[in-house]
Amino acid sequence: MKAGNLLLKTVFAIIKLTLPVITPPVAISRCSQCESKLIIVKVETEKIENHRFPVTITTYRCSNKACQIETDKRTAARLKNRDMQELAKQEREKMRVENMLLKKRARA
Ligand SMILES: [Zn+2]
Repeated sequence: MKAGNLLLKTVFAIIKLTLPVITPPVAISRCSQCESKLIIVKVETEKIENHRFPVTITTYRCSNKACQIETDKRTAARLKNRDMQELAKQEREKMRVENMLLKKRARA
């Protein structure tokens, strides 16, 4: 019984310690690339499916111009890559449907 109480106390202590971490202040204002100060570009609140509370999305820009140019390049490359993958996926889906239709026609 005594051990159980201790466990309960420990659990409460952990919860107390973890709580402030769940709602961290939005104060991460250093660039992960160059440690320069970040400038807030926009703050959006979005309702995301399966989330009980709306999520705040903050977009930052690095105050170091050279660094921001690099980041923009990387973002553009990533977006392009994503578009290409999406296109390839659509292409595959089209082929799949066409093949299915061909098979159907061959059977008929
Ligand atoms: Zn930077």
